[in-house]
Amino acid sequence: MLITPQNSGLDAAKRLRAGLLGTRQRLAAAAAACARDVSDIRLLAVTKGQPLESIQAAAQLGQIDFAESYVQEALQKMACLQGSPLVWHYIGQLQANKTRAVAENFDWVHTVDRERVARRLHEHRPHYAGALNICIQINIGAELGKGGIQSHELLPLARRIAGLSGVRLRGLMCIPPATGLYDAQLHHFQQLGHQLQTLREAGFEVDTLSMGMSADLEAAIAAGATMVRIGTAIFGERQ
Ligand SMILES: *Cc1c(COP(=O)(O)O)cnc(C)c1O
Repeated sequence: MLITPQNSGLDAAKRLRAGLLGTRQRLAAAAAACARDVSDIRLLAVTKGQPLESIQAAAQLGQIDFAESYVQEALQKMACLQGSPLVWHYIGQLQANKTRAVAENFDWVHTVDRERVARRLHEHRPHYAGALNICIQINIGAELGKGGIQSHELLPLARRIAGLSGVRLRGLMCIPPATGLYDAQLHHFQQLGHQLQTLREAGFEVDTLSMGMSADLEAAIAAGATMVRIGTAIFGERQ
């Protein structure tokens, strides 16, 4: 059979459908395995490096939450998708000179690891938009060159952020070292869960654990993830 643009597009749509439905099934199975309600776990479709058509196709299958890592790429996609009631999550490293665009266009930021960035997000958040939901990223494996604070820095940072009305601290996010081993991932995710507990005991009303990617979502859910960020398992390899 000749591969025309039309039927290769059809194949792509079929693959995406299989990827998304398969991922939803993985979430449901992982939740059932630890007696959690799957509706307590939000699936974020990570669309960095994926074309606009994939976002549209996923949205048509009921996907609401989308996550991007590069501001410019995300803004271009958003401009083409205006009118769709999608929720946008920023999950990339945040440079201070990009905070305005992020504060104006995203609903969530998962990667706050400095007071300065939180303060700029607060300052740039438009009043009509309500407070920007943010998570503090913890460098849970203490890896060199990776974003995120060390655990002992959490309470001081959370306290400084608490007074900023333009942002609302919702919880914690991590990207542990990718070991491919369930127990190692679980260990790191449980540590993030303990840090969330620490925040709660200090009086913060936080409800979000953003953790788990394509390779380790089961361990994340077992450790209490409320948001998993999934790219390749839904969409295939990035371009
Ligand atoms: C790319 C990315 C993901 C998705 O990773 P997959 O392995 O493709 O599921 C999740 N979180 C962050 C922060 C990312 O940058």
